[in-house]
Amino acid sequence: EKQVYLFEEGNASMVKLLGGKGGNLAEMTALGLPIPPGFTITTDACKSYYKQGGRLTAELQSEIKGAIVALEKVKDCRFGDANQPLLVSVRSGSVTSMPGMMDTILNLGLNDETVAGLARQTASESFAYDCYCRLIAMYGQIVLGIPGFLFSRQLENLKLHSGRESDGEVSAGEWKQLTGAYKLLVKEHSGIDFPQDVDQQLNMAVKAVFRSWNNARAKVYRKLYSIPHDQGTAVNVQAMVFGNRGEDSGTGVLFTRNPSTGAKELYGEYLIHAQGEDVVAGIRTPRRLTELRENMPEVYDHLAALANGLEAHYRDMQDIEFTIENRTLYLLQTRSGKRTAQAAVKIAVDLYEDGMILKEEAVSRIDAGHLDQLLHRSISPLEELKPLAAGLPASPGGASGMIALDAETAEAWKRKGNQVMLVSTETSPEDIHGILAAEGVLTARGGMTSHAAVVARGMGKPCVCGCEELTIDADQRIIYLGENILKEGDILSIDGTSGRVYAGNVPLSDPEMTPELLKLLSLADEIRELKIYANADTPQDARISRELGAEGIGLCRTEHMFFSAARLPAVQSMILAESREERLSLLERILPMQQSDFEDMFMEMDGLPMTIRLLDPPLHEFLPNLEQLGEQLRRLQLAGGDSEEQKRLKRMIARIRSMQEKNPMLGLRGCRLGIQFPEIYDMQIEAVFRAAKLAVQRGIEVRPEIMIPLVGDPGELKELRMLVDKVASEVLGEAFKSITYGVGTMIEVPRAAVLAGRIAEHADFFSFGTNDLTQMTFGYSRDDAEGKFLNSYLDKNILSGNPFQILDQEGVGKLMEWAVARGREKKPFLQTGLCGEHGGDQSSIFFCQQTGLDYVSCSPYRVPYARVAAAQAVI
Ligand code: PEP
Ligand code: MG
Repeated sequence: EKQVYLFEEGNASMVKLLGGKGGNLAEMTALGLPIPPGFTITTDACKSYYKQGGRLTAELQSEIKGAIVALEKVKDCRFGDANQPLLVSVRSGSVTSMPGMMDTILNLGLNDETVAGLARQTASESFAYDCYCRLIAMYGQIVLGIPGFLFSRQLENLKLHSGRESDGEVSAGEWKQLTGAYKLLVKEHSGIDFPQDVDQQLNMAVKAVFRSWNNARAKVYRKLYSIPHDQGTAVNVQAMVFGNRGEDSGTGVLFTRNPSTGAKELYGEYLIHAQGEDVVAGIRTPRRLTELRENMPEVYDHLAALANGLEAHYRDMQDIEFTIENRTLYLLQTRSGKRTAQAAVKIAVDLYEDGMILKEEAVSRIDAGHLDQLLHRSISPLEELKPLAAGLPASPGGASGMIALDAETAEAWKRKGNQVMLVSTETSPEDIHGILAAEGVLTARGGMTSHAAVVARGMGKPCVCGCEELTIDADQRIIYLGENILKEGDILSIDGTSGRVYAGNVPLSDPEMTPELLKLLSLADEIRELKIYANADTPQDARISRELGAEGIGLCRTEHMFFSAARLPAVQSMILAESREERLSLLERILPMQQSDFEDMFMEMDGLPMTIRLLDPPLHEFLPNLEQLGEQLRRLQLAGGDSEEQKRLKRMIARIRSMQEKNPMLGLRGCRLGIQFPEIYDMQIEAVFRAAKLAVQRGIEVRPEIMIPLVGDPGELKELRMLVDKVASEVLGEAFKSITYGVGTMIEVPRAAVLAGRIAEHADFFSFGTNDLTQMTFGYSRDDAEGKFLNSYLDKNILSGNPFQILDQEGVGKLMEWAVARGREKKPFLQTGLCGEHGGDQSSIFFCQQTGLDYVSCSPYRVPYARVAAAQAVI
């Protein structure tokens, strides 16, 4: 199998084999653009290098040699020849662009003899020895692992001693002297001499680039962007052109549009008398491209024409690397340019409006992360910041605030007008006020569907969870982030889009619904087939959802209405009630509160469906903490305080103990609660229909859908459907009979999926609760798995993705397909949707489209994202 392709043998469609850079170099060669000749070693060769235990096979070595011979013919010079030496660059080029993650070596082919040849050929000794120094330094760093600063320090010292301001002023003699020093450095640090054999140089460089696929930063980058680890990198070997040949030479980078705003203008930087990485390395401050127009107008015009031509050819904004050698322009690379979210949307819409791309293409150009960034305050991606630690990117956006170690502190500081960052080991529903008060949340434990994550996403608050490097010393009121120690009250910033954590304040940019974004979303709406609903628990959530384009509420978790400070005591007493009578009277107090929420929500959702789920979580989630109660009691006893209060506390403790379960998530919750304590559901249903009646009286169109959670048997749904119908008819009476409503069920217990046909007999709709369905199908606790073992499963590739984040199509997905098919057999018009956290994930939305669901429901701030993903699912 062929492992080496000359540029003229490939094209852009061979990206998988040739990598992005290699494919595009081949494409540009075919277009007749000024590309220095070269060849690409395939990603397959990289894979086989790893399979061989880090060896280049004899076949590969001879193919490389053959390609070098072809290059020699074109360039009319010889690799290793003392008079007419061929010099090459060796660069990585992965399939998915990973800017700056892997290595590059320039000027390969220089040795003590060829350097003299180069000097004669170019009539410049200083140029030739500058190139040689660069080679030794890059080779030293990349092949031999010698720290780069050891080389640059020597150059800086030399310049200091001889009073040179820039590299350009360094004399030939000084470069020669530096060559010697660099060689010595190589010998000292690696024990070997810098190789004079150019074939050995090349083989070692190719191996080093292959190895760099697995360096630490590349691995981290791949993990962050879900790039497969087995993709491998290609290697591009290309004849050198020199930007360091004096004032008529240079090197630069050019974007065909502004990468931060998307504006249609050439945007770039260059350096005179410079090579390769000099521009991006940021050692010298580059000049703006406008200066090139003044200094070398003919080169600028040529460059502008090529850039526009490339953009038209690729029909996307390009990021182009170029080199000018003695006023002759060469292109070294083109790729679709990285851009901010704002630019991405503007460019896609502009290209569509200019007739360059179809609406389907415009929509498919937007990637998930872009919409996240646009709809949340975010840390500018162009900012170069060093993170202290990283966790799971649980809820997108950037935030900064004073570290507060508990919800009470967070609330108190917020009340004083501070911005706070809630930092805790984990969060429970009781901390909701702390999350509300905070700008963002950072937790040490818990995964993407942990409480903190779900709640933060719902509120549009940035959240990083499962940050393993975080430990909290609650006594000392300090936190450890890796080796860093921070005090409560210090400022901390998080980026919930990348999962990174930073010390101090970081600059944030505000979200914006630009005209371009609205246009893009409307294009998506024209394409998509799935309806997009929102998971909204409050009137405010409902309003935001609607503003962001939700076509209904797919999940209103009514228990979230119970958590507010004003209501929790009544809810707790109701749960702890020792008799039905007591409970009924407490429920009566709760009913108007719940009703008023529903009234407001119906108003907001006028004309759109609103899926209201009856109480679901295990009751202990509402109850006060036993340890705290015990502590309170002990203190009271020690102080000999109020005996009535002591009795009350004791009763409460005993009652809570009696209600405790070993496996609450598999215990008394969902419809089981509704069957055990029908009066609770009764109250909730009554509140819904009273609110519906009032809304209708105010001229609002209501479309209530009552949803029963955690059904595993048709009998459960049958029983509770009767309850809904009974209460509805009582509340609505004859006068409001025209209010139509639906009754449906969550499919979140595997047995419900299996028995879907029979369950459908009692259901108007199915909503897949994929959080619980994943939990119960895998048998993994959704609250613990991510912190305990899931990460090592992912590291060991036992699982290819986190199933709480990305729907497990093989397992959970099969249950869904089965349930949809059986349900529709029974009821052709059965509505089907998904309302777990997966509703906000692209690949899961794709699966929903494929499975023929009617809708997906996600958190309000995720709605625009889901609109775009649903459109992409059709394309
Ligand atoms: C689910 O289980 O997927 C679901 C939506 O319900 P909850 O997350 O409230 O358990
Ligand atoms: Mg559930």
